Amino acid sequence: MSTKRDYYEILGVSKTATADEIKKAYRKTAIQFHPDKNPGNKEAEEKFKEAAEAYEVLSDENKRAQYDRFGHSKGGSGGFQGHDMNMEDIFSQFGDIFGGSGFESFFGGGGGGRSRQRKGSNLRIKLKLTLEEISHGVEKKLKVNRLIHAEGVTFKNCTTCNGQGQVRKVVNTMLGQMVSTTTCPACNGAGQLIDKRPPGVDSSGLVSKEDLISVKIPAGVADGMQLSMSGKGNEAPGGGIPGDLLIVIEEIEDKELKRDGNNLVYDLHISFIDAALGTSVEVPSVGGKVRLKIEPGTQSGKILRLRGKGIKDINGYGSGDQLIYVNVWTPKKLTSDEKAKLEAFRSSPNFQPHPDHNEKGFFERMKEYFG
Ligand SMILES: [Zn+2]
Repeated sequence: MSTKRDYYEILGVSKTATADEIKKAYRKTAIQFHPDKNPGNKEAEEKFKEAAEAYEVLSDENKRAQYDRFGHSKGGSGGFQGHDMNMEDIFSQFGDIFGGSGFESFFGGGGGGRSRQRKGSNLRIKLKLTLEEISHGVEKKLKVNRLIHAEGVTFKNCTTCNGQGQVRKVVNTMLGQMVSTTTCPACNGAGQLIDKRPPGVDSSGLVSKEDLISVKIPAGVADGMQLSMSGKGNEAPGGGIPGDLLIVIEEIEDKELKRDGNNLVYDLHISFIDAALGTSVEVPSVGGKVRLKIEPGTQSGKILRLRGKGIKDINGYGSGDQLIYVNVWTPKKLTSDEKAKLEAFRSSPNFQPHPDHNEKGFFERMKEYFG
């Protein structure tokens, strides 16, 4: 196995590129190195294959995350398994990228008589998760209504394409005249038409059925993230590969802990008596309550850190911390007795503010924790 180039480098995109940018970059590269435009050019063909492989990985959220984490490591536990794609794989990819545009038929002529496998439609569901579930990862059983092949359906061969699912036609392209293969309009590529269908079955021979699907959610997912389960979507009419199940993560807002990336933030309020004399408090964390010591002389605005008590990083870069912002509560109402007692301390030098260099101001602290 020769050493592989970085997938991002191959497509000429940054590590933070959006799905759309990756798609665009691949489209550009694929057109540039397409075998039809570079006949007999081995180097172009290699670049073409390389780009297809890079796109296959970077366009899939799970594969991309795995690649970001492990790079090209081969074998081993959890290592990213890149695979060499053949031309069939690559051309079957084009349907998704070039969609219904002219490119599909343009590329369709290239390999000569290959059959494109039909794919069922994708299903998308939302999954609500608590911070607790997100921080450790969780296994969920999802009820999903999928379209599956119905029993008792019979098919007959499509007469338009003679069961091939595709029709050939001659088209004029910028590279001259080419024989193009396109999806049969009569059967939508299935090669078959439905003959007999029982009640409740749609015109594609599919019926809706509730499925219980078990999914492992990795720790560290975030609101809006989409996980894709290959083959768990709707089945393809007349055979072919099922679509994917897309799971969109929704984070349930926690009443006490606020999320900031992989860190969790908790606002703690203590009385100024506790701040002056010191105390011990209980604070919530994703792993349950944690007891925390408040040192005598604690200033308002101090940030305490529970190392590793935040959210596990989705790419395996350790865990975030829990930050505890200490707010010292100033009493708003006092009895006359309390007032008199406090008044006695007013002139005591110990009660005069005299911050030393260790007591950084608000901006200094922010720089320290988020810089
Ligand atoms: Zn047909």
